[in-house]
Amino acid sequence: MVTINENYLKLKAGYLFPEIARRVNAFAEANPSAAIIKLGIGDVTEPLPQACRDAMTQAIQDMGQRETFKGYGPEQGYLWLREKIAQHDFQSRGCKIDASEIFVSDGSKCDCGNILDILGDDNSIAATDPVYPVYVDTNVMAGHTGEADDSGKYGGLTYLPISADNDFTAQIPSEKVDIIYLCFPNNPTGAVATKENLQAWVDYAKENGSLILFDAAYEAFITDPAIPHSIYEIEGARDCAIEFRSFSKNAGFTGTRCALTVVPKSLTVKASNGEEVQLWTLWNRRQCTKFNGVSYIVQRGAEAVYSAEGQAQIKALIAFYLENAQIIRDRLSAAGLKVYGGTNAPYVWVKTPESFSSWDFFDKLLQAANVVGTPGSGFGAAGEGYFRISAFNSRANVEEAMARVTANLKL
Ligand SMILES: *Cc1c(COP(=O)(O)O)cnc(C)c1O
Repeated sequence: MVTINENYLKLKAGYLFPEIARRVNAFAEANPSAAIIKLGIGDVTEPLPQACRDAMTQAIQDMGQRETFKGYGPEQGYLWLREKIAQHDFQSRGCKIDASEIFVSDGSKCDCGNILDILGDDNSIAATDPVYPVYVDTNVMAGHTGEADDSGKYGGLTYLPISADNDFTAQIPSEKVDIIYLCFPNNPTGAVATKENLQAWVDYAKENGSLILFDAAYEAFITDPAIPHSIYEIEGARDCAIEFRSFSKNAGFTGTRCALTVVPKSLTVKASNGEEVQLWTLWNRRQCTKFNGVSYIVQRGAEAVYSAEGQAQIKALIAFYLENAQIIRDRLSAAGLKVYGGTNAPYVWVKTPESFSSWDFFDKLLQAANVVGTPGSGFGAAGEGYFRISAFNSRANVEEAMARVTANLKL
């Protein structure tokens, strides 16, 4: 008899984005003339940089000639791409990361889930609340949690609440946890971590033999020069942290698919037989067995991000989204709302007005302004009373959405 992975049945059925879609569709059906503007899901809207398109067009030509045709590439990614990543994203910032420690993949979301393949099932796990749901749900699927309670919290996980009360900086746990998920700049709150804060996490991890899973998908949005872009800017991180990066948000690759995971060779974990095992070896083995690499064409597109034109174009793209975020911050503040994030991240995290729950505020914006955002409570119980507005949209849509929200929001 076939059995299933029953852990999937523990997942909260009403996942955030389907519920948003359900409410938006119901509203659109009842109000067919409403021009709904979506500032909800974290997907980019602006076209791929020209340098990336040119490189991919050239790569397609390469595939059309016997001499330059490429079959399977290295499972870890082409060395020419890994070297550029190591140099531009890490070595230039003083991080001792070698090209051989970079694994190119088709997405950070996949890597964040797949990393559990090489880790044991008995680790204690901490994640912030609110959180990027992938970290929690992949652990639920792997059987690392109990059932969810009424607030959506799964048994067995350590939740680290983040809110305005603690400046969106999670308190370091007093007990020992084995695996800690950190995401900076943060989705959904738009918060960043200072060097001191990250140093405290690395010190904690080294003291407790913990592993930090650091998601830096939004590092390109950091404008404050004092804020670290990589966990490896922190002393000791090579011994306790894996970092996830993606071309999705800096270069608009959400539909093109290219990302990378850094596993330092100095990162070891003691096996039950007492042997110190490199996580690099396990991840390399995992990728070689279960993954066949990212397409040559896409890797050439990603490589172009590091050319002079590519760098200029992605800087302009990021600046454009950050200007959107500034417009959102300014308009909502002027309307009397308290806003967070949006200066080093493409998300503005809004405190909902008194007496509005996250979902009440969602319904209010949808009905009164025909604007869609994301209820903070969908990212975790401690996100209740907050609302995420994404800066990923055209300037015209952002301006129009903010004009409607401020005109219709009677506080
Ligand atoms: C968008 C995003 C990613 C990137 O995921 P990809 O699979 O590379 O597109 C990773 N982490 C967070 C928190 C994100 O919001």
